Amino acid sequence: MSDCLFCKMAGGEIKPDVVYEDEQLLAFRDIHPQAPLHVLIIPKRHVANLNDLDDALLGGLMLQTAAKIAGQFGYAESGYRTVFNCNGDGGQTVHHLHLHLLAGRQMHWPPG
Ligand code: 5GP
Ligand code: ZN
Repeated sequence: MSDCLFCKMAGGEIKPDVVYEDEQLLAFRDIHPQAPLHVLIIPKRHVANLNDLDDALLGGLMLQTAAKIAGQFGYAESGYRTVFNCNGDGGQTVHHLHLHLLAGRQMHWPPG
């Protein structure tokens, strides 16, 4: 998707602050962090949102990678939050699938 912000990041056209990369995934710091650690984990290929995720392994890999990054930053024991926002009511603003990883402060529930 040529007009997709996160595809441009995956393709190297825009360079975010990358914390992890492999063949399928890119993870980078959110530009408006909502916690001391706020990372977005995206598939390199365009998937609009969770409704369009046709690969369970890819979803599992995103979650496992979030746990790995949280551990690398020292938050495995203190805890962290992972969030997929989907479409309007879910609060999704960038329509390329991304998993939020938030850590470094007390989270609250419900999130609002
Ligand atoms: P959503 O609301 O779609 O779940 O989350 C989109 C996230 O992307 C937001 O937290 C927002 O701050 C982040 N974001 C939007 N534009 C950029 C950008 O240009 N660079 C980075 N690193 N994050 C962005
Ligand atoms: Zn995209």
